[in-house]
Amino acid sequence: MKPVIALVGRPNVGKSTLFNRMTKSRDAIVADFAGLTRDRHYGDGKLGGRDYIVIDTGGFEPDASSGIVREMAKQTRQAVAEADAIVFVVDVRAGLSAQDHDIARYLRTTGKPVVLAANKAEGMQEGPQIAEFYELGLGAPVPVSAAHGQGVRSLVEAALELLPPLPDDEDATEADARVIRLAVAGRPNVGKSTLINTWLGEERLVAFDLPGTTRDAIRVPLEHNGQVFEIIDTAGLRRKGRVFEAIEKFSVVKTLQAIAQAHVVVLLLDATQGVSDQDAHIAGYVLDSGRAVVMAVNKWDAVDDYQRQMLERSIAQRLAFLRFAPIVHISALRRQGLGPLWKAIAQAHESAFKKMTTPVLTRLIHEAVEHQAPKRSGMFRPKLRYAHQGGMNPPVVVVHGNSLEHVTDAYKRYLEGRIRDHFKLVGTPLRVEMRSSR
Ligand code: GDP
Ligand code: GDP
Repeated sequence: MKPVIALVGRPNVGKSTLFNRMTKSRDAIVADFAGLTRDRHYGDGKLGGRDYIVIDTGGFEPDASSGIVREMAKQTRQAVAEADAIVFVVDVRAGLSAQDHDIARYLRTTGKPVVLAANKAEGMQEGPQIAEFYELGLGAPVPVSAAHGQGVRSLVEAALELLPPLPDDEDATEADARVIRLAVAGRPNVGKSTLINTWLGEERLVAFDLPGTTRDAIRVPLEHNGQVFEIIDTAGLRRKGRVFEAIEKFSVVKTLQAIAQAHVVVLLLDATQGVSDQDAHIAGYVLDSGRAVVMAVNKWDAVDDYQRQMLERSIAQRLAFLRFAPIVHISALRRQGLGPLWKAIAQAHESAFKKMTTPVLTRLIHEAVEHQAPKRSGMFRPKLRYAHQGGMNPPVVVVHGNSLEHVTDAYKRYLEGRIRDHFKLVGTPLRVEMRSSR
């Protein structure tokens, strides 16, 4: 499971700047439902092969008693609660302040591991301005310059070092290729718990696997038509008698972690609501993850023909980037459309793990060129020689040849289309990469 790092500090110390440095730029999911201009932002980062999630928070004043400042303090506390490690950001140009002391005191009460980031330290040697922050009692300040990208690597390394080592069970389940791991992702109230409970009520449960702590992911294995699936919890499910109940209404962190662990993501939409900004954010994140996707439009029972048409249109417009994903209409409540949903999931999984051999890929590439050659660019005409498979889930096709840097995006999409058609790839992204030998 990806560890979570929260950025905490006064306003204007450089948290958002640092956030952008620590993440792959996309602001994965903005928790925008609190209605504030700035609350918590979640992003994905990677360092030395280790993935992590970063939460950026607004400015923090622990003793705030009212209004927006208090709401920001609440947001920060929630982010700290979700985090495995804290990066406490201070501003070495502004110097140590009373608020920094307050924040340090608060952080100590949480018992979470803390790294102190002495930001805006560009052009400063380990001088008195930095040393001053030892006074916070949080160990050695790590000098960084978020704006200039200096020291950020060491900072992330220091934060990751504070985390418990990765459990090795992750690989064990990875090895069991017969299990299809599923995450049901979607904003609050789309019907995630209803769908999962309907599945649990209808399908045979293989075993219960309920860990003691809520920080652990729950995976519920069940069998449908002889295929074993594992449902990865996204909502903090807890068993209550026969059924599971969501203990948190919506958790961005759990959603991100579940998507990362899944083979196939069921992106759940609410037919009665249309596609919202938050749906689009979550969908964007699913796309970035490279996972196989099935779009399930839930509550199909509760809409009329006109609403159905409007919905199809808004999916086509707002989620155009997930065009490869099949769309299934379901009613989790009335148990309708679930057969087609299982079928789509199995097909997406098969597509994501499709084996494509070098001779077949190479023949496809040659046929594609015969049918339509890539455009000449100045003196260069790209020459596509052969192709091999570079990965699975998502499938990656690497094309080798000469002058391939001149292949246009439109041509890559053309190749992608032909490869998709041939292998009948549905519900998975497909990446086509060009590798010139010169
Ligand atoms: P936040 O409110 O803590 O998220 O702070 P921001 O990231 O919005 O940054 C506040 C201001 O500090 C902006 O004007 C940034 O350009 C500036 N800033 C951020 N990082 C650095 C840095 O490393 N050095 C300097 N000199 N300025 C910085
Ligand atoms: P979650 O927050 O995504 O887990 O959503 P819930 O499963 O708690 O469902 C939110 C609400 O939508 C509940 O009142 C459900 O009864 C209702 N709901 C869920 N699925 C359906 C459906 O297929 N049709 C209709 N009409 N309502 C549904």
